[in-house]
Amino acid sequence: MKLDVLQPEVIVDITGLRDVSMHRIDRSAGELRIGSLVSMAALHEDQSIGRDYPILIESLWQAASQQLRNMARLGGNVLQRTRCSYFRDPSFEQCNKRVPGSGCAALDGANRGHAILGTSEHCIALYAGDWAPALVALDARVEILGRTGLRTLDVADLHRLPGQTPHIETNLVPGELITAIIVPGGPRRRSLYRKIRDRQSYQFANASAAVALELEGDVVRDVRIGLGGVATIPWRARKAEKALLGARLNEASARAAADAEFRDARTRKQNLYKVPLGKATLVRSLLEAQAMEVA
Ligand SMILES: Cc1cc2nc3c(=O)[nH]c(=O)nc-3n(C[C@H](O)[C@H](O)[C@H](O)COP(=O)(O)OP(=O)(O)OC[C@H]3O[C@@H](n4cnc5c(N)ncnc54)[C@H](O)[C@@H]3O)c2cc1C
Ligand code: SF4
Repeated sequence: MKLDVLQPEVIVDITGLRDVSMHRIDRSAGELRIGSLVSMAALHEDQSIGRDYPILIESLWQAASQQLRNMARLGGNVLQRTRCSYFRDPSFEQCNKRVPGSGCAALDGANRGHAILGTSEHCIALYAGDWAPALVALDARVEILGRTGLRTLDVADLHRLPGQTPHIETNLVPGELITAIIVPGGPRRRSLYRKIRDRQSYQFANASAAVALELEGDVVRDVRIGLGGVATIPWRARKAEKALLGARLNEASARAAADAEFRDARTRKQNLYKVPLGKATLVRSLLEAQAMEVA
């Protein structure tokens, strides 16, 4: 809105909604339920979450700044819009996301920060957030309240690939409100988030990896991987997961998994570097998750 990309006639502030479950972190039902109006800072400060879900906290404290984390709510964080500079500057005429059918200035423009996975010839805008890739790696769901009642949706299915309609970004329909984020099952202590960026604070990812791992010795019994900084949506790395499941985890198998995931990457002139960077980030994250000492 500040950039004049959006000029809504009416703005509704939902932070004052009195439904307590939207403001609360609740673990009583054997799963983790985080109200969508919990702030980024409030979750970050909950030490039991830090112990049981390191991936959630590491992805939050590396996002934005403390001032922003104090204000921003987790429902809004998941739905944050792209940072594509052509989208954010209405003086550029070509942007299919902002003006459907107008073209895409980023394809042959400044695309160093753009996506290499999940792109289309209509849009290569990056999903820039850190927390949603971690949610994807935890198989989390969003609880949604609409005109016909409650429903849930996997976080991995919340955002839409750009395809031919990059202006339609999510699978929410008008009138729907995210009320909570639900992480099923118990703690995921062998989990982490690694973020590579141009400077070490207050910067979006060039590549990131969220890994939740279960091992028996060196053998991978379960692995979920979310990638950030490289894709148009919070990216579930299913090809890498498939390559790792049942395999011994070591540098060679981690590299093979990363190769499998990035084989379909589609690069543009300035973002070729994201292929080796994305692979290296994933390999390092897998090996660091393996090395974690878990009680
Ligand atoms: C300078 C800067 C640096 C940043 N750096 C990072 C970073 O490194 N990593 C990172 O991950 N993020 C970063 N961010 C993004 C920031 O984390 C998000 O802007 C913030 O989390 C959004 O939260 P909000 O509550 O302000 O949401 P809003 O901006 O108010 O909402 C975002 C969108 O979601 C909709 N919405 C909000 N809540 C709901 C709901 N419950 N149900 C349905 N729709 C809803 C709104 O209508 C809006 O369209 C940065 C932002 C800035 C300004
Ligand atoms: S990448 Fe997407 S958001 Fe950016 S200019 Fe192209 S269409 Fe617009």
